[in-house]
Amino acid sequence: MEWNPAIIPTVQPHDEEAPEIVRKHYFGPARFYCAETICAPCGVVIGWAKFAKSESPTKILQFLHKIYPTEISRPDYICIDKACLVLRTAITNNAWDMWSTTTRFIVDSYHYNNHSAKDTLCNTWCNPAPTDGSAPNLVIMAREKNGNPYWKRAFNTQACEQLNSWLGGFESILKRMTVGNFDWFLHTMLFYHTKYVIEKQKRKQAKDKKKNRDSGDDDGDSDEDDENDDWINTVDE
Ligand SMILES: [Zn+2]
Repeated sequence: MEWNPAIIPTVQPHDEEAPEIVRKHYFGPARFYCAETICAPCGVVIGWAKFAKSESPTKILQFLHKIYPTEISRPDYICIDKACLVLRTAITNNAWDMWSTTTRFIVDSYHYNNHSAKDTLCNTWCNPAPTDGSAPNLVIMAREKNGNPYWKRAFNTQACEQLNSWLGGFESILKRMTVGNFDWFLHTMLFYHTKYVIEKQKRKQAKDKKKNRDSGDDDGDSDEDDENDDWINTVDE
């Protein structure tokens, strides 16, 4: 249909540049290529944006700069499915001069397996879980109940992927909305989702506290029942 150009399905590899698809016009319901989200490892949504036409590293960098405009606001690590591409682009366009003082771009553990093992830049700088001790904030040692040590990811690097798969359920209605309705609907959904995530965390904290109190351990930490337990490999000792 003239008002709704056919979508040519393309799969964009996460560590390769995607060609920009040229359409007759961009006024149809399928106008936006995607909605991007930024969320914390706990699932709280920090920001979102619509990316017209393609999800290019340059647009990702612009989005990150908008959400984290000052040095103090920037996190130590940002997980991106195509972190190595974003890092390459940032080095080329000098954005890295600003980011390098505070932040590392790493690939989330879900997509990292599909990145090229021969890509030295990716392996060296974007590995989400290096087990050589170079990133003690990303990889921690934990112990099984029987005392055996194992490496564990300190954070859930797949939070955005989990959010995206939940949002995917609304795709068919979102892509038929006017821009105003799309913005309102998505923003409202993410707002309520975040409220739900925070409520869930509060409940979990209260449960952990009670459990620790009952067992006489009052350090407030819970070693077990970690939803984000993500084993990497066992440690030979
Ligand atoms: Zn890569």
